[in-house]
Amino acid sequence: MSVLTRMSGQSKGEKLFRGIAVSAGICRGKILVLHRARHIIARRGLADGEITEEVGRFEKALVQTRQQILEIQEKVLKNLSAKEADIFEAYLLMLEDQVLVDEVIRMIRDQKVNADYAFHTVAERYVTALVAVDDEYLRERASDMRDLTARVLDNLLEVRDEFDLHHITEPCILVSHDLSPSTTAQLDKKFVLGFATDIGGQTSHTAIMARSLGIPAAVGLQTISQELNTGDYALLDGYNGTLVVNPTDQTLFEYGQLAKIKASLDEKLREIQQQPAVTLDGKFIHLSANIENQHDTEAVLAHGAEGVGLFRTEYLFINRESLPNEDEQYQSYRQVAAALKPNPVIIRTLDLGGDKFASHLQLAKEVNPFLGWRAIRFCLAQPVLFRAQLRAILRASAEGNVKMMYPMISGLEELNQANALVEKCRAELRAEGKPFDEKMEIGAMIEIPSAALIADALATRVKFFSIGSNDLIQYTLAADRTNEKVSHLYEPTHPAIIRLIKMTVDAAHRHGIWAGVCGEIAGDPVLAALLIGLGVDELSAAPTVIAQVKYMVRRLKLNEAQALAEFALHCESPSEIHARCRELARQTAPSLFENKS
Ligand code: PEP
Ligand code: MG
Repeated sequence: MSVLTRMSGQSKGEKLFRGIAVSAGICRGKILVLHRARHIIARRGLADGEITEEVGRFEKALVQTRQQILEIQEKVLKNLSAKEADIFEAYLLMLEDQVLVDEVIRMIRDQKVNADYAFHTVAERYVTALVAVDDEYLRERASDMRDLTARVLDNLLEVRDEFDLHHITEPCILVSHDLSPSTTAQLDKKFVLGFATDIGGQTSHTAIMARSLGIPAAVGLQTISQELNTGDYALLDGYNGTLVVNPTDQTLFEYGQLAKIKASLDEKLREIQQQPAVTLDGKFIHLSANIENQHDTEAVLAHGAEGVGLFRTEYLFINRESLPNEDEQYQSYRQVAAALKPNPVIIRTLDLGGDKFASHLQLAKEVNPFLGWRAIRFCLAQPVLFRAQLRAILRASAEGNVKMMYPMISGLEELNQANALVEKCRAELRAEGKPFDEKMEIGAMIEIPSAALIADALATRVKFFSIGSNDLIQYTLAADRTNEKVSHLYEPTHPAIIRLIKMTVDAAHRHGIWAGVCGEIAGDPVLAALLIGLGVDELSAAPTVIAQVKYMVRRLKLNEAQALAEFALHCESPSEIHARCRELARQTAPSLFENKS
């Protein structure tokens, strides 16, 4: 009898747990609850003669752990990709952190205590410090550190880790308080149908790993690992982040229908993924992807995007302890340019500030960060930092179809200053004999109302516009994009937004340049027709939504989109405009909305 059958509970009523959806898909099966082995750490005094042996025991545990991590890394590299394997580099770095190791050995020697007690004490101090940091990336490292600590303690105390998962012999849904990346990396899709955890967020490495593995997952379900038992029967919905325990026949039927609908839509989307985004009457729309780092290029091509419309370079600066220098940036940019050649890659210059901060820059807190020292304002005030990025981008332009754009342009003066700096960098590179594309196109993001209002003047100095609707909406409607309390005011279909988009596009076309949209609205199939009707030439969105937008575009007629835009330009009500957009979208591509109410 298997572990699951043995522990099967009595049949109980249906119970629904809600969490955060992190990896799409639906699965059902028996639950296996995993609890991390509890380490009993007791302080034990040592005799003088025992100290050397204790230090040796600690060092041996480090070597064993290192070996295990290397094995996991190798497996991940083979089964997933270099990006996932990279996660374990951080583990190895922590393991080799001489400050930490020395501190533990000093404690064993000076305080004459056992290695597990000393290691646990020092490691906990590190975890506490990481948790307290005001930086999401570093906070995530706290859970990596906990995972690593548990592994070292397993080795020190010779505890067999239940999480090694070798004992699973039949398909199940894993439930646990947390699932570390190192455990997630070892999941065998044959046996692990999906997983659900008490804690975790969208950006955790566990979530990233689940998406790469393609297994349904939900996190943040609070106390499920305490409330559920191994053997309980459940249905996991990775689209909505819910776990239904003891689902009724009706629930199973409904989810069965949903799974069928999703599978048939996925099939339809796959069919058109590599087709062009062209309307029924022949209007071609350039569909590009938004990316955050150089590892995202595979996703760009796999989802059928024609290049990158927005490379948010700030993530190269945020998730680390020091600034990336020119060469390091150049390597990242050229990697993307080369991988996607001949497709265009639009690199956006640094947009720090607002809600994005690099902890190592230690910028003073501002009362109104979104109205403050952000993006191009910050870069123009930091010419050394800006110059390194401009040179890196220019150099990468020799390796592919690179374009560059500035964020948060509010007026001509900023654009002129930035362009003058680029000119200087070009002259330097020429003198140094470093190759770059003399014709590399430079564009401006239009995300402040003042820029839209003077779009005619800006258009004479750039080769394209990219409308940053996320910011354009927040600045036009004075509604902080991160503040839930004013989210009802944050309306993409507000007539003011529609008019500003129209002004921008018209100004671009009058001056013979193109205009795209790279904010979140570009990835919403409901709004695609409106944007196309307003004359937008390019839409740039997260790789995962590209296929849906393409599906919509390929079913649209340009005159219908134009009629919708005409209606929107004369309508006073944001909700009426949105309702019209929804109506046309549902008529045009009903399959995209079948599972939505
Ligand atoms: C935008 O503002 O729409 C945009 C694309 O830039 P970000 O979201 O990075 O501010
Ligand atoms: Mg923006």
